[in-house]
Amino acid sequence: MKCHRNQAIHDWRLFNRRLQKFTRRVDIKARIAKLHPSVAQSTFTVERCPKVRMVIDTDLGGMIPCYIHELLHIFFDDNIGHLSYTIQEPMVQAIETHLYAFLQRDKRRMDWWRNEVRSHLRGGGS
Ligand SMILES: [Zn+2]
Repeated sequence: MKCHRNQAIHDWRLFNRRLQKFTRRVDIKARIAKLHPSVAQSTFTVERCPKVRMVIDTDLGGMIPCYIHELLHIFFDDNIGHLSYTIQEPMVQAIETHLYAFLQRDKRRMDWWRNEVRSHLRGGGS
């Protein structure tokens, strides 16, 4: 049982590290704006270094969870190839729930993402 849990933590640590590398490799600019009906959305070009333009409505969702949600879409696209929204959305939702629980267990991990998200924000933001 203990072995099992350690393995899971190890796997999430590795996955987090891959996402951390990915968010640094990709050209991402995010901004805060009103959106309807979605909470966040992004447009991106598929290249060796994808260019991502992200819009997040912080009245509807948290900055970090929204950023990670959008990032997962792009990460899957980049790693698995393009899947329709119908297929990809439930994949993203399943992963983000577990990933976010993992991140929240350690203040340093959350701080890392907080700084990362801020560094991609245009025009200040908060
Ligand atoms: Zn989505």
